[in-house]
Amino acid sequence: MAQTERTFIAIKPDGVQRGLISKILGRFEDRGFKLVGIKLITPTENLLKQHYAEHVDKPFFPKMLAFMSSGPVLATVWEGQDVVRQGRAILGATNPLNSAPGTIRGDFAIDMGRNVCHGSDSVESAQREIGLWFKAEELVDWKLQQLSWIYE
Ligand code: UDP
Repeated sequence: MAQTERTFIAIKPDGVQRGLISKILGRFEDRGFKLVGIKLITPTENLLKQHYAEHVDKPFFPKMLAFMSSGPVLATVWEGQDVVRQGRAILGATNPLNSAPGTIRGDFAIDMGRNVCHGSDSVESAQREIGLWFKAEELVDWKLQQLSWIYE
């Protein structure tokens, strides 16, 4: 069922430090998506190297690694129809200067290296990232009582 699609959304150390947690989570809650996993974690270098495996050889990687491991990250998993694509739309373009107003990055960020949040870019990467950041037992199966008011 499409409603069981899941995505990994993280609030990066800048978002946590700037007190943006509730605003960011609120956008996903308000939209009708269901939170199924959440934890505050300062990621290890090893976790970040796996998470950003495609970027480890890029010139920006060392700075990004230092930034991402500098403090707590709020790791979350959300469930709902088309949530991977919709999550990326809610967050906005990677470079905040290209993010539309109304998106998280378009409203709260300027610099690429301080773009506040992360969202999986495909269903496959969502599955991979959820598996890296969460143990199976940390994901909570629960029924959203508003479901029939959100989905036809
Ligand atoms: N990034 C950066 N400088 C760059 C490119 C990327 O600091 O020149 C950071 C940026 O924070 C971005 C992350 O690396 O969010 C991962 O890049 P990706 O292209 O995967 O973007 P995302 O999936 O986060 O939108």
